[in-house]
Amino acid sequence: MAVEIPRASTYMLANARVAVELAQGAGLSADADGLAACDILVRDGRIAGIAPPAASGSEPRVDVRGGLVLPRFVDGHTHLDKGHVLHRARNPDGTFLGARNTVAADREARWTADDVRTRMDFALRCAFAHGTAAIRTHIDSIGKQTAISWPVFAELREAWKGRIELQASALCPTEFAIDDEPQFRETVATVARYGGSIGGLSFMGTPPGEKFDRALDRVCQAAAANGLGLDFHVDESHSPDAVTLEPIARAVIRNRFKGRVIVGHCCSLALASDADRGRIIGLLGEAGIALVSLPLVNLYLQDREAGRTPRWRGVAPVHELAEAGVPVMVASDNARDPFYAYGDLDMLEVFRESTRILHLDHTARSWSGLLGPATAAAMGFATPGKIVVGGPADLVLVGARDWFELNARPWSDRVVLVGGQAIDRTLPDYRELDGIA
Ligand SMILES: [Zn+2]
Repeated sequence: MAVEIPRASTYMLANARVAVELAQGAGLSADADGLAACDILVRDGRIAGIAPPAASGSEPRVDVRGGLVLPRFVDGHTHLDKGHVLHRARNPDGTFLGARNTVAADREARWTADDVRTRMDFALRCAFAHGTAAIRTHIDSIGKQTAISWPVFAELREAWKGRIELQASALCPTEFAIDDEPQFRETVATVARYGGSIGGLSFMGTPPGEKFDRALDRVCQAAAANGLGLDFHVDESHSPDAVTLEPIARAVIRNRFKGRVIVGHCCSLALASDADRGRIIGLLGEAGIALVSLPLVNLYLQDREAGRTPRWRGVAPVHELAEAGVPVMVASDNARDPFYAYGDLDMLEVFRESTRILHLDHTARSWSGLLGPATAAAMGFATPGKIVVGGPADLVLVGARDWFELNARPWSDRVVLVGGQAIDRTLPDYRELDGIA
């Protein structure tokens, strides 16, 4: 993008276009696409004003020629601890099982603090260069790994303060709460020490029973007692046995859990009968649960069978959920690991591909909140994911003037502003990782 951001403490981003839903306190009126032309005044690194375009002004002007100005992004479901291992841990067949086994072996053999730190920092630099302001990562919390990875996460959260706001959630089978109480207690204590969420992996290949309900009660009670959130990996499968979402919603209601509850994936919900899906969506609403869909990874892992073309997309029924008022989000999930061989924690890619995979285009509903504010609200990030008058000038400038232009190209030439200044968007080189074999 051919714009020069001045070093001046005050300047005007002139002839900008914003999604009205993403601009707070601006009072602009939206066109049919939810967009409005405006000038954005930046002063001392903050948004000093948003107003309809004016021909002139005294401050230096950066003419963005009708291009979209977006808030920096929020990515609510990632696995920074797993990422960038593909050179040493490739999924043998591209399946979910192949991913799980390959990651388990890699974790056991190689996830030292140095290894985890190097890969997490690499991933954060990718996300930052693409324009992300806030990330939640899941952290494998199994055996010795809990004590290794969480302190590294806390260290990076501190180191990245002011650039990327970080949250974390512990990932281990939900039924550990019953099957392995000492490990469960250690995980809860660790997450309580550093702050975050618990919940884990709900579907382990067998239909949920009475033991799963007891495990959920313990998880809800432990989260409530320690002021933690809940965040589950749910039914990432086409199996008819993958029906753990309903018991999770019922447990949240039964335990009167008042904290934030997030469920991720929920692939099999799309395959449920209309009656079952309607009932479960109703329960999500009653329980106050928000759902994050991971379309890129679902498309990669779900319905994969050697020699057979996939028949379904693997994604949660996002339209039906949104229609019922359940807060929905999209996020990156994995990047360059056995669960997903691609990805770069680029929320613009996630938004573009989600639009295509989930058919978010050609609808009356606005989906712009998926870039950040939906996730910020559901997960309690301080970063609003919006352009706020009085807030930091943390912005992403692209040449695209509408959603179709935005979703047609990767916009690799975007400009990312943090505190009103353009950041160096050079992506880290994969060769840096050659040393962590
Ligand atoms: Zn995940």
